Amino acid sequence: MPGIVVLRLGHRVGRDQRSTTHVALVARAYGADRIIISGERDDALVERVRRVAETWGGSFEAEYRSDWRRVIRGWSGLTVHLTMYGVNLPDIIGEIREKWRESDLLVIVGGEKVPGEVYRLVDYNVAVTHQPHSEIAALATFLDWLQEGKELSREFPGARLRVIPQRHGKKVVSQDRYINPREG
Ligand code: SAM
Repeated sequence: MPGIVVLRLGHRVGRDQRSTTHVALVARAYGADRIIISGERDDALVERVRRVAETWGGSFEAEYRSDWRRVIRGWSGLTVHLTMYGVNLPDIIGEIREKWRESDLLVIVGGEKVPGEVYRLVDYNVAVTHQPHSEIAALATFLDWLQEGKELSREFPGARLRVIPQRHGKKVVSQDRYINPREG
């Protein structure tokens, strides 16, 4: 399958640290390959996301790019902007999924205010309902519908920590213990 990259617009140091971190963690957990953070430069946040990826496996990458226009204009594949003003997800996801089979996908989420230009630059403006909510919820729902739930069973190779699912309680094993057959 071609890749998925998330572009987070308008990050503000201090005010958006929690929401941008959650956008990045959702992007990674729900099968994206990379996040590009735009807005105010926040190296500490990028570093934190990279550390999570190192600990929990997979090959997710995080980077800062000041020029979001260049990211969108220079994208050679498909571009989707998530906005409450777009076409509602169930009405367009099939078409987007078909096109995604042929080319990498850039999924754009906004922050406080999204420049009007973004709406014109992208291939699709997609709404996850026409009600205002959050970039984190919109991204999770979009990625889940795009991949039809397959991302929920994705493996994250090279993880240092892994969860062993429990009906009750918590079990996390480190890489060393996990690969020791005596411990099953
Ligand atoms: N009124 C703002 C706007 O859309 O320009 C809402 C900003 S909201 C706090 C931040 C981001 O969440 C938006 O830029 C958009 O990416 C996403 N978002 C919020 N509600 C959404 C919805 N119903 N559908 C799709 N994306 C949504």
